[in-house]
Amino acid sequence: MAIYNLGSINADNVYRVPHLVGPGETLAATGFSQGLGGKGANMSVAAARAAARVFHIGAVGPDGAWASERLLEYGVDTRHIARVDEPTGHANICVDEAGENDIVVFAGANRAITDAMIGAALAEASPGDSFVTQNETSGQAYGAETARKLGVRVIYAAAPFDAAAVNTVMEHLDLLVLNAVEAAQLSAQTGSDIGDLPVSDVIVTMGSRGCKWLSRGAEPCLFPALDVTAVDTTGAGDTFTGYLIAGLDRGMPMAQAIDLATRAAALMVTRVGTADVIPDLKEIQDMRL
Ligand code: ADP
Repeated sequence: MAIYNLGSINADNVYRVPHLVGPGETLAATGFSQGLGGKGANMSVAAARAAARVFHIGAVGPDGAWASERLLEYGVDTRHIARVDEPTGHANICVDEAGENDIVVFAGANRAITDAMIGAALAEASPGDSFVTQNETSGQAYGAETARKLGVRVIYAAAPFDAAAVNTVMEHLDLLVLNAVEAAQLSAQTGSDIGDLPVSDVIVTMGSRGCKWLSRGAEPCLFPALDVTAVDTTGAGDTFTGYLIAGLDRGMPMAQAIDLATRAAALMVTRVGTADVIPDLKEIQDMRL
């Protein structure tokens, strides 16, 4: 089967700074690196590294060819990544000597994805394929609705959290994945328990405490995290979700797909970086945990 991921593609510009910049201050960075980021790109890379066939639906600007090429190198099909006349999405990240950071994100091309682009990509999908999206692009509701009508499994990662965005896709979802903070925000907004949402399956990730699977009509099921020494939890959730959908796409029952995702995310938190360090399937199979 195949996975269609309507997702963000960002350049992560990381500046090392002596301290975080104050109002009106100009500060010399002591280091700079640029990497591939964006929740969408991370999830595509994770699913591709889990050996799934992944079509990324997205957009970059005239300055973004390298990001598309990087995705291609990681095994993601990039034919549905459009070149638009907006700057490529990017995050400017300052990290100080204590590891504290501040981040400015500009969505740019990620919000210039049109329904026509999404429709053209999904026209190639078959029933039983998967469609996944997050809250960093335009077209989420159109994509979810179109995929559902085609008999494609629809998965939504509710990050960054926005109640209105979740509400526009909710009725089309087969699976909702969100972290504990997002789950609390959604509960507060709907005034009801996460288990009572109109979605058949919900997974709440809880960092080092693992995750909880809530399936309609069944008791909640807890999956503990693996006991590893975390050095950088950036991208843990994206790796988890990418592996989860790759497992489901391969026909694994939910519990087995969660188990695979838990292992992948555990290995990921032992590494510094995002898309460029997401582990592949062989590394996960070789894990001694
Ligand atoms: P997000 O990055 O979206 O906030 P979480 O922090 O909940 O997501 O992490 C997603 C998954 O990654 C968790 O469910 C867990 O399986 C794994 N994980 C995260 N932090 C750790 C950790 N410190 N040790 C082991 N596994 C972890």
